[in-house]
Amino acid sequence: MLSKIVIANRGEIALRILRACREMGIKTVAVHSSADREIKHVRLADESVCIGPPPSTESYLNIPAVISAAEVTDAVAIHPGYGFLAENADFAEQVEKSGFTFIGPTPDTIRLMGDKVSAIATMKKAGVPCVPGSDGVLEDNIEKNIKLAQEIGYPVIIKASGGGGGRGMRVVRSEAALHNAIALTKSEAAAAFANDQVYMEKYLENPRHIEFQMLADNDGNAIHLGERDCSMQRRHQKMIEEAPAPGLSKTLRNKIGERCAKACRDIGYRGAGTFEFLYENGEFYFIEMNTRLQVEHPVTECITSIDIVREQLRIAAGEPLRYKQKDIRFQGHAIECRLNAEDPDNFQPSPGLISRFHAPGGPGVRVDTHIYSGYRVPPYYDSMIGKLIVHSDTRESAMARMRMALDEIIVDGIKTNIPLHKTLLTDSTFQAGGINIHYLENKLGIS
Ligand code: ADP
Repeated sequence: MLSKIVIANRGEIALRILRACREMGIKTVAVHSSADREIKHVRLADESVCIGPPPSTESYLNIPAVISAAEVTDAVAIHPGYGFLAENADFAEQVEKSGFTFIGPTPDTIRLMGDKVSAIATMKKAGVPCVPGSDGVLEDNIEKNIKLAQEIGYPVIIKASGGGGGRGMRVVRSEAALHNAIALTKSEAAAAFANDQVYMEKYLENPRHIEFQMLADNDGNAIHLGERDCSMQRRHQKMIEEAPAPGLSKTLRNKIGERCAKACRDIGYRGAGTFEFLYENGEFYFIEMNTRLQVEHPVTECITSIDIVREQLRIAAGEPLRYKQKDIRFQGHAIECRLNAEDPDNFQPSPGLISRFHAPGGPGVRVDTHIYSGYRVPPYYDSMIGKLIVHSDTRESAMARMRMALDEIIVDGIKTNIPLHKTLLTDSTFQAGGINIHYLENKLGIS
């Protein structure tokens, strides 16, 4: 097993990784900014290294500082968590060149999947269903692009190959708007991602977001752990996730999951990863792969009883997968609510002192958070302060359990989105299951 690892992240995910390490007898090094001296995992880690001032560009994104911390502490591996450096192929490469294990896929895989055009081409080849589209980068030829859009059928969406975080996309509803939309997306992409390549896809009007969790080892074994429905989103940010996806048949789950597993084998995927799909009228359409652990991984852990972080650490240590596909059983239903330090009315961040925190509890309730009474939420980072996860035998009883947990939790001193979650958990359309990705924005009156 790995003897000591650096956790190159902060907040709830750093604590989640630290807990897995402690259970497995792996020593931990917390690297943190000067704003995070009092954060929970820093207090619990075996060692800690301050790697820079509060802005993440000077600390959590500072590659030489993270690698030096591994060097001075004699760590053997680095876990990037999610966000920050997790999908940065150059970082993964430098980690490995410096003699450490990167807990994730190879730099080449991260690069291949990080470029959407190459990711889609790879998936198509592996037999994963994709959105009808341009089959590659758009040329600078308006006649050709007009013809392509006609063939695909309006509306279409122009997307940046190097895009991410819901940016670098533009919906086009008519031929008159096509030329301008391509030019604008190209120039924005050049500025934001230093890559002006764009491609075209059919724009799906009312899809759901359904994604598959994968695990793969170094010996070519790959399995899926089923899917998650993450359609409750605002500005492409997920708010509530659940597993399994309401109404999805076992046959379709296995078919798509198997295709994803085959794709993992084809590309030599290693570690945990997620295939994201849009799902409309009973069809799956691949949009991108996340080559890392995801925020919403706990709902999958609940229904499969598999600790995904522990598996990541085992795979990084070179161990073969301990499960075959036939060993994977799905039990009950799990729901996660992301808790954000923000005003539930206008979504403005609400950092500051948490004067009082009480966690909910009881059977099937899991709270993944780094906050405590007296903790001060810094203004420099993402506003997520934790996740509330429930598991029960049916979707209905999981929703009841979540309502109970939301009523019980107390976070005083700052504003949070807990009131909004309470509203959503009593919403009859959400309760019925199968909302699409526009549901929340429509409900909030922003579209
Ligand atoms: P990012 O990497 O920026 O998250 P994605 O390719 O995952 O980009 O797309 C982000 C979101 O944009 C999707 O979750 C979906 O809401 C919307 N989207 C992307 N492609 C399409 C499409 N072809 N049709 C409809 N919506 C889309």
